[in-house]
Amino acid sequence: MRCAACGREAGKLVDSLCPECYRRINLRVELPEELRAEVCRECFGVLRRGRWHRGAESVEEAAEQAGAGAIEDALRVTGLSEPTATIRTLQVYMRSPRDCTAEYAVKLRGTCGGEVAEVEVRRRVNVKLTLCGSCHRRASKYYEAVLQVRGHGGLSGELREELAGVVHREVQRRATEERAFITMQKELKEGTDFYFGSHRIAKQVAAALQRRYGGSVKVSTTLVGVSSSGRPLKRYTFAYRMPRFRAGDVVMLEGTPYQVLRTSGSRVRVLNLHTRQEVTLAESRVEGAELLGRAEEGVAGVVTDVLEGGVEVMEMRSYTTVFVVADVKLRAGDEVRVLADSKGRYYLLATAEEAENEARGEV
Ligand SMILES: [Zn+2]
Ligand SMILES: [Zn+2]
Repeated sequence: MRCAACGREAGKLVDSLCPECYRRINLRVELPEELRAEVCRECFGVLRRGRWHRGAESVEEAAEQAGAGAIEDALRVTGLSEPTATIRTLQVYMRSPRDCTAEYAVKLRGTCGGEVAEVEVRRRVNVKLTLCGSCHRRASKYYEAVLQVRGHGGLSGELREELAGVVHREVQRRATEERAFITMQKELKEGTDFYFGSHRIAKQVAAALQRRYGGSVKVSTTLVGVSSSGRPLKRYTFAYRMPRFRAGDVVMLEGTPYQVLRTSGSRVRVLNLHTRQEVTLAESRVEGAELLGRAEEGVAGVVTDVLEGGVEVMEMRSYTTVFVVADVKLRAGDEVRVLADSKGRYYLLATAEEAENEARGEV
């Protein structure tokens, strides 16, 4: 049998051609010599088919991914059945602060005319280091929402720092999203203002604060202009207010003392310090309560006697014995914590067992 193209004698012909001629005529690998890609030099985002993909940890890693993506998108192979392509990076190097070159070896394997065929091509991709829309806006101090974080009667330094930590961590968690940045942070007497690049993320962070600490969020918008397409441009303000009471606080509400166990959204889980029953109350109802003291002001004590309707406790700061009203299962010798209010009345704080029960329950 002779090949119809080269005339050589061959053991096997496909379409009257020897394997070499069959491959030469049918197998086509198309990959342009000039390949381009784009990455963001700030967030290491990779632009692919009009969208930014973030997650690379260095500009080199982003450039490598971008170049490989450009090859995958441009590669066309015909005449190869069951093809597999392996893109191997040969080297990545910076040519200037704005340009990078990435070199690859692209290996294709499959069958052609019934025989295993393998082709390797080498390509360089020019990767431009630019700024994505999000980083460009960040650089120009863009913001579309303000998150105001407020406490009752100002914010203490420690709580202010804790809240700022939560805000920044929540933004960091969304680092791969568009405009996930805070352009400015203003410390005011009444609290902190955070300027957000994305109103959507500002809203999510406000909701996260509310989930964690309770309290309320009020939204308002102002018109700041009109977009080029005639759409009104709005700026959002999310006013987050901490609840008046925190977990641990002891309050007097409608003549009954309660200890706040947990706040969640608009509900507050409290422990009735007389009956030792846990109840869930609306935050709006607890707002009007009188603060008797905070858990950290409590003092250690030891139960000396269990009486009808309460326990006698040796208070370990003044070494005086006090009686506290509490329908609770305790024994002489048990260690507890008590809190005195400004009138010298004592309350038995949630015991370790009660706190444990609460942690297991749901609001
Ligand atoms: Zn031939
Ligand atoms: Zn970027």
